[in-house]
Amino acid sequence: MMADKEQLRRNLDDVIWRIEQARIAVSERHIVKIVAVGKYSDTQSIETLYTLGQRAYGENQVQQLEERSKALEALPLEWHFIGRLQKNKINKLIEIHPFLMQSIDSLELALALNDALERKGGSMNCLMQINSASEESKAGLTPQSAFDIYREITERCPRIHLKGVMSIGAHTEDMAVVQKSFETTYKIFESLQKSGATICSMGMSGDYELAIRCGSNMVRIGSVLFGR
Ligand SMILES: *Cc1c(COP(=O)(O)O)cnc(C)c1O
Repeated sequence: MMADKEQLRRNLDDVIWRIEQARIAVSERHIVKIVAVGKYSDTQSIETLYTLGQRAYGENQVQQLEERSKALEALPLEWHFIGRLQKNKINKLIEIHPFLMQSIDSLELALALNDALERKGGSMNCLMQINSASEESKAGLTPQSAFDIYREITERCPRIHLKGVMSIGAHTEDMAVVQKSFETTYKIFESLQKSGATICSMGMSGDYELAIRCGSNMVRIGSVLFGR
């Protein structure tokens, strides 16, 4: 979907305003970063959004991330990978070298990524994905295992620099249940801060204000930014 500049400006202004209200309710020192998710949009709209001041972009497919980061490589954008990473795409992702890989969803994936990074002599900043509402349809570590696996990845995967956690809110209209899933993720994040975690990535178009009130400091927003 192609959105015009004025539409994108209104969308971005609205999101920034709402984030401002939510983050101030937490603390003046609580700073939130927006990652604009381009999957419902096109490369041109990303370029336009950049001219309005938005620098960080997320894609959930390696292929799309590769195409867009190449097409826009002249711009100083920050690219995030936020989707499920298949083993056969690991090398491709390493070549793209995203600013942040947000979706380490198993120890097995971490070990495979670490091995590939070792071979290529690289490293990657990552988040560990938590399936906070324990939904079968979703990727991510269970809340019960998250703390131990985070420590284990830190110890066994020196090429992976874990910066915190990512989670998708519970899939329901019941905001009390969504809030509970964010609180679960935030508690894990809090316990990991002693191990150096600084990023708590949660909140999407339908629930980012709630996520921020629960402590999120990174929101991944697609439809309400690029839509009309
Ligand atoms: C698509 C996607 C988003 C953005 O979703 P919207 O509801 O359109 O804001 C955020 N995070 C992940 C992991 C996604 O796949």
